[in-house]
Amino acid sequence: MRLSQLFTKTLKEAPADELAINAQLLIRGGFVFKNSAGVYSYLPLGLRVIQKINNIVREEMNAIGGQELLMPTLVEKKYMEPTGRWNLDVGFFAKGINDQEASFVMGWSHEEVLTVIASKFVSSYKDLPFAAYQIQNKFRNEARAKSGLLRGREFMMKDMYSFHSSDADLAAFYERSKEAYTNVFERCGLRSYCTLAGGGVFTENFTHEFQVLSEVGEDTIFLCTGCGYAENIEISKLKDGDTCPKCNGKVVEKKAIEVGNIFKYGPKYSEKLGLYYKDENGADHPVISGAYGIGIGRLMATVVETSNDKDGIIWPENIAPYKIHLIMLPGGEEASQKLYRELSEKGIEVLFDDRDDKTAGEKFADADLIGCPLRVVVSKKTVEKNSVETKERNKKETDLVPMDKLVSGML
Ligand code: ATP
Ligand code: MG
Repeated sequence: MRLSQLFTKTLKEAPADELAINAQLLIRGGFVFKNSAGVYSYLPLGLRVIQKINNIVREEMNAIGGQELLMPTLVEKKYMEPTGRWNLDVGFFAKGINDQEASFVMGWSHEEVLTVIASKFVSSYKDLPFAAYQIQNKFRNEARAKSGLLRGREFMMKDMYSFHSSDADLAAFYERSKEAYTNVFERCGLRSYCTLAGGGVFTENFTHEFQVLSEVGEDTIFLCTGCGYAENIEISKLKDGDTCPKCNGKVVEKKAIEVGNIFKYGPKYSEKLGLYYKDENGADHPVISGAYGIGIGRLMATVVETSNDKDGIIWPENIAPYKIHLIMLPGGEEASQKLYRELSEKGIEVLFDDRDDKTAGEKFADADLIGCPLRVVVSKKTVEKNSVETKERNKKETDLVPMDKLVSGML
């Protein structure tokens, strides 16, 4: 992509009402646009990051047998009324043209919709287990939409639901989902802690949150510095300095961001919405379920919160919008154009600053703000040595690398 063509521009300043670092940097870098409080557009650079995150999520969900689908945003009253979740404050409601009252809620969670869909396809124990997921925008009337993309009113989520004939089968899948979740966050450059939390609606009454340590997090957790065991303060009997109940390590109190959340809801919605299966003897039972969420936008924002410096974002390689930020400086015009073509032909993702109305200083500042892993500069000085100057975003020192070596080294 040529920066001279990109319709968005970097900004010197973030909007005055945007206090969160994630939103400031993402807006200044041209990744997102704030449309309303808690409502953002993903601009071309931001959408590239989102798509990379989504592909990692897809790979990990597919690896544990998840099947991708896409459910509607408009969720009709008939789905939510039987479970008592129609009239909740969380909803944004919508009215059809002939309706006196709202007949739809903008989907904020899809247990009901998928349970009803499943009830049309599941009849026997042989139809179980299965898991299905979607990546979709959710709508929630959040009272405090003030942490940038960490808490939106419209936000992208991956939500998966699993369906089983026994508690044991659900429990086994639940454990596999924990590994898949840990992989997702690790591949996005984040260390997450699977944290015991409350709010469960089934047997054990517990849920698990995936927490990433950050001072701006809304959650407080007790974390074992030895084994990584963690509990949310909301349910924990631990306190700072305690001994870990699992390994005798030391427990510390930390602020954290919840990037994902899994819980078992058992037969709760199956019973209310008629999702039953017949066992080997022909007896009917409600299907047993679990739900598995990841906040995609919150994940992107968490990376920005935890990986930045005073100059901008430092994207981890796997989710960076481009691998290389190529800068053309005076005397390097021809060589940089050629290098851009060569790298692009080889399938290497390059953001090419080919603008002729910007100073070197402005170009360097934009490269730091946008945060691609490798900055490559082509100037009169480097051309004379048939080389380019490289600098990794998270390092200070620069290197002089022969032009052909750069291309072969990127493959
Ligand atoms: P929270 O406790 O942060 O309000 P939640 O428990 O309501 O989240 P879930 O309904 O389980 O969250 O949603 C799954 C995931 O979606 C969460 O773990 C979080 O990463 C993300 N998420 C939830 N609400 C928001 C929001 N308002 N904005 C952005 N991401 C969100
Ligand atoms: Mg939560």
